[in-house]
Amino acid sequence: MPTTSSAPDPTPDYDALVQHFDEFAAEEVAPRVSHMESSPHTVERELPRLMAEQGWFGVTVPRQYGGMHAGHLAKTLVIQSMARASGAAGALLQASQLPVSMIIHFGSDEQKALLLPQIASGDTLLSIAVTEDKAGSHVLGMETTARRNGSDWIIDGSKAHIGNSHIANVHCVVARTAPADEAGSRSLTAFLVEEDRKGLTVERHRPALGLHGFSFGQLTFDGVRIPEANVIGEVGDGKDIAYSSSILYGRPNLAAVALGIHEATLACTTTFLSERERYGGTLSDLPVLRDRVADMKSRLMAARALAHQAAVMLDHGQSCDGELINSKLLNDEWAVESGQTAMRLHGAHALRGDYPLQRLWRDLQHMNAPAGTGEVQRQRLAETEFGPPPVQWSERLAAKTSLFRLTSTAS
Ligand SMILES: Cc1cc2nc3c(=O)[nH]c(=O)nc-3n(C[C@H](O)[C@H](O)[C@H](O)COP(=O)(O)OP(=O)(O)OC[C@H]3O[C@@H](n4cnc5c(N)ncnc54)[C@H](O)[C@@H]3O)c2cc1C
Repeated sequence: MPTTSSAPDPTPDYDALVQHFDEFAAEEVAPRVSHMESSPHTVERELPRLMAEQGWFGVTVPRQYGGMHAGHLAKTLVIQSMARASGAAGALLQASQLPVSMIIHFGSDEQKALLLPQIASGDTLLSIAVTEDKAGSHVLGMETTARRNGSDWIIDGSKAHIGNSHIANVHCVVARTAPADEAGSRSLTAFLVEEDRKGLTVERHRPALGLHGFSFGQLTFDGVRIPEANVIGEVGDGKDIAYSSSILYGRPNLAAVALGIHEATLACTTTFLSERERYGGTLSDLPVLRDRVADMKSRLMAARALAHQAAVMLDHGQSCDGELINSKLLNDEWAVESGQTAMRLHGAHALRGDYPLQRLWRDLQHMNAPAGTGEVQRQRLAETEFGPPPVQWSERLAAKTSLFRLTSTAS
C-alpha cells in the first residue's frame, strides 16, 4: 500500500498564492481587458512578459532548475485566477504550460538544463504545435514531415491553431518521421524549433470569435533545418509526447480556464440581477430567477471540485487520467451551460458590446476544441470501460512532478 514519504516537500501556501494571483489579476489583467477586446487584430505581448517575471511559466518546474515547484494545483489556481479576469490571459498562461510537460517528461538532460531554467525565469516561452488544418483530433493523420538530412532534420508542412504562436520563442513541433502504415503509432517525432530558424513563418494573426489578445495561429515550415540535438525524446515518441502533454497539462489547464470564466459569468449574473430594479425590489427577488442562479452555482461548485481534485491527485503522483479527462469535459460543458443561462437572464442587456457577458460567452466557445473536444474526452472515458485500456499517463509520469512523493511499502 502506498504511503507518503517521510520528508515530503512543504505544502505550498495556497491562500497566499491565490491572494497574490488575484492582486496581479486586478492590477495588471483587468485594466487591459477593454483594450484587448477593442483590438482583436493585436496580440497581447506585455501581459505574458509580466507573467513571466512572476515565474509562473515555471510553476511546475522543479526547484533544481529554478522553477517554483508549486505543483499542478497551484498551476490550476493561477490559470483560474487569470481567466476570471480575462479568458485570453488564462488561455495564454495555460498554453505556455503545455510544452513544459514535454521537456520535463521527455527532454534530454541537456534540453532540461538549457530550457527549464529559461522557462522558469521567463526568458523563453514555448508553444506546442501538433494540430494541422486537416488533422485535428486525428493526430496520427498529420502530414507535416521531418526527414533526415545528414545529421540534421528538415521539416516541411504547417500547423494550425497553435496557442501563443506569435509570442513563443521555441515551438515544440510534432511531425511525421515515418509512414503510418510502416511505423504505426511510432510514426511521429517531437522537435524543438527555435523562432528564428530559416524557413519558419508565423502567419498573420487573425482575430477569432473570442479570447482577443491571445494568438492561436498558423506556423508554416518550408525546409526548416534543425540539428539532431533538437529531437525531444526518441525518434518515434511523438504521439506519446503529444498525448501525455495533453492529458497531464492540457486537460487540467483548459479546465482551469473554463472554471475561471465560469466564475466570472456567475459573478456578472448575480450582480446584474441584484442591481436591476423591478416590482419595488430587484430581479434577484424572483424565485424563478433565483432557481436558475442556483443551478449555475451548483454546476460551478461541482466543476471547481473536479478541477481541483484532479490537480491534487496529480500532485500526489496518483493515477488520475480519468479524473483529468472528466474535469476538462465537464468544466467546458457546465461553463457553457451556465454561460447560456446567463445570457438568457440578462435579456437584451447580454448583447451590449460594452458589457462583459458577451465577452465571457464568446471566450467560453473556445474551451471545447483544445486538448480534445467533448467527443474525444467521451471516447477516452469509454475506453476505460470497454477497452482497449488506454495508457495511464499519470501512473507513468506524475511522480516526476509530484509534490508529495509516494513510496511503495508493498512487499
Ligand atoms: C483556443 C485554442 C487553442 C488551441 N491551442 C492549440 C495548441 O497550443 N497546440 C495545438 O497543437 N493545437 C491547439 N489547438 C487545436 C486543438 O487541439 C484542435 O482544435 C482539436 O484537436 C480539434 O481539432 P479540430 O479543431 O481540427 O476538429 P476536428 O478534429 O476536425 O473535429 C471536428 C468535429 O468532429 C468531431 N470528431 C473528430 N474526430 C472524431 C472522432 N474520432 N469521433 C467522434 N467525433 C470526432 C470533433 O469532436 C468535432 O466536433 C487549439 C484550439 C483552440 C480553439
